Amino acid sequence: MYKYRLRVLLILVFGGCLMVATRLFYLQVIRGEYWEDYAASIQLSTRSSPTHRGRILAADGTVLAADLPAFDIAVKLSGLDSPKPEFRSALYKALRVDGLRVRQRENVRLALTQMEQGRPAVSMAFAGVVVRRKRPSGLIGMIWKGKHVREKVEAERTVPIPRGVLEPAQNLAGLTGESFRAILEDVLKLAEDILNKRANSWDARPVLENVPYKTVLNTAVGQENLRGFFPKDKRVRRYPHGELAAHVVGYMGKLRPEEYEDYKREYAGSRGKRYFLNDTIGRAGVELRFNEILRGARGKELVERDRRGRTMRVLESIDPVPGSDVHLTILPAQQRAAERALGHRTGAAVVLDPRSGEILALASAPRYNPATFSRDYNRLAADPQKPLLHKAIKSYPMGSVFKIITALAAWDKGVSPEAEFECKGRYGARGPRCSARWGHGRIGFRTALKKSCNVYFCHMGANAGAEKLYEWAFRLGFDQKTAFEPLGEARGYAPSPARRRFESGQGWWHGDTSNYSIGQGDLLVTPLQAARAVAAVCTDGKLVMPHVVKKIADAAGNELPVPGRQSIQPKQLTLPRGGADRIRDALVAAVHEPGGTGNRAFGGWNKPYRVAGKTSTAERSGDSDLGWFVGVAPAHAPRIAFAVAVDLAPGEHGGDVAAPIARKIIESFPDEFLMGGAPGKEDLANESDHGEEPTDL
Ligand SMILES: [Zn+2]
Repeated sequence: MYKYRLRVLLILVFGGCLMVATRLFYLQVIRGEYWEDYAASIQLSTRSSPTHRGRILAADGTVLAADLPAFDIAVKLSGLDSPKPEFRSALYKALRVDGLRVRQRENVRLALTQMEQGRPAVSMAFAGVVVRRKRPSGLIGMIWKGKHVREKVEAERTVPIPRGVLEPAQNLAGLTGESFRAILEDVLKLAEDILNKRANSWDARPVLENVPYKTVLNTAVGQENLRGFFPKDKRVRRYPHGELAAHVVGYMGKLRPEEYEDYKREYAGSRGKRYFLNDTIGRAGVELRFNEILRGARGKELVERDRRGRTMRVLESIDPVPGSDVHLTILPAQQRAAERALGHRTGAAVVLDPRSGEILALASAPRYNPATFSRDYNRLAADPQKPLLHKAIKSYPMGSVFKIITALAAWDKGVSPEAEFECKGRYGARGPRCSARWGHGRIGFRTALKKSCNVYFCHMGANAGAEKLYEWAFRLGFDQKTAFEPLGEARGYAPSPARRRFESGQGWWHGDTSNYSIGQGDLLVTPLQAARAVAAVCTDGKLVMPHVVKKIADAAGNELPVPGRQSIQPKQLTLPRGGADRIRDALVAAVHEPGGTGNRAFGGWNKPYRVAGKTSTAERSGDSDLGWFVGVAPAHAPRIAFAVAVDLAPGEHGGDVAAPIARKIIESFPDEFLMGGAPGKEDLANESDHGEEPTDL
């Protein structure tokens, strides 16, 4: 009897203990992760509120880039897997090995599979560590509980997907015509990120991006069947004029994971400026150069959430700061004209205001579409015409246009502007040949520049000396970056004997000076530098600082300083006395008089002003020639300075190809703009006292 009672008592006591222990074990170990997730979810968290990126506008207010609203359909696992977290519980339960919790869990992978009845399921794979207790057997085991042994494990599981998760996904697929499988896979990716602690169950994840407005409405209306899925607004970068000024505007791209880490460190102190993994960032042009100014700062909200991640209270809130607008100096009609004039050619065209340095058009061909840039990238990168290259700010051999600088250098050295030289078709026995096979005979400056006589300018260069040529090239802005704002501008290159000795220890030969005088050899110039130099020469030495940003204004319209900008005040150079007039007159002759190198392209000219321009056909070793046309209009009171540089087919010349392109660009400017209210006759009267008759007047 006594024995029996004792046994009952023992069973009761042990049984009770066992029950408590089992429950504890269940709560702490089996559902432990779930409760951890639960506990972690009752918390304060900061939520970031989006801002919108500033616009990029042309000089007349045309919007070239802007953020416009768009919608995604997003999912929250806390909403989809509700009211009970059935799916998450099943996933966490499956994350165990022999009933033990898997620690240092890494790389949980989820994939969609089919269960036997055809219902979709999740196959789960993971690795980690379990801690087993190794208890010795027999008597020792009764006294000593044993020691803990860590063991690496890998496992695979199949977990059914609850109907509560499948149905809304199926309904969304039915509503939108999207693939059910693709939607489920996005949901699983989110679940996977949650299991890998890269996301929270209340994070919204887009499953369908940039959906039509009708889908947004239907999703909003059909909420009871689409539990967990909801429309989410966002902003996307739009380029309303597509390829217009693409190389100036630039494009956006998603932040790459390795960059994300860098940016995270850089902006650690500023939550508003922080980047998130899916953020986009300016990748080229103004989008890149002024990325910081354009992007603004996110707002911040300190929120209290309940266990399902629902916002209970907003405790503190800082409003987002919208990005500032960048207003460009680009004139859209003339930019378009420049792009059309380049057509299918490979090359660039620059137009700038020789008084202020404002860049009015800056075209590079072929172009790309900023909106579809990421999709087109591989094709663009492989294109032999290199559409990604901003050719207006890359450097090229210049050829005969450099003769303008040779003249200034020679006059500065004391050579008389009236000096004449004998052209017999070649400079010396082995020097450069002239385009006139039998020579131009005795020739003075005006005709020599008009007809682009190589021999004349070889003589001029020899008199000036190579160091003097370098001095004037540098003075006019070659071999240095201009004050141009977008990134990626080439510096170009101008040689000199001293420089060559210093850089390579090589000597400088007489022939090098001859080549230099006519723009051949090592000289490299960007179209932008060329336009700036000709502007300076034709405006009596006003060297402008080219720029593409007119102003930056915040959302309230307050003007802000242009970051990184130094002074854009033009520099005044002192040109040799009378030099500018002489050069302008010769350049007008080259365009408007028979026999001028640019004359054929300007046949039938009936505008109330004249154009001053210089052609050139620059040789490139192992490559096609490059045709240039560089000048100003109107010739005697320039309102625009331009440079066109295009690849030539064999047998083509700058005068035949680049000059007609320049003409189309010049003609795209209204006469009133170019004449600036000044009487047109004055412009014409200036040239009437020269010997040769102008054409077509
Ligand atoms: Zn000649």
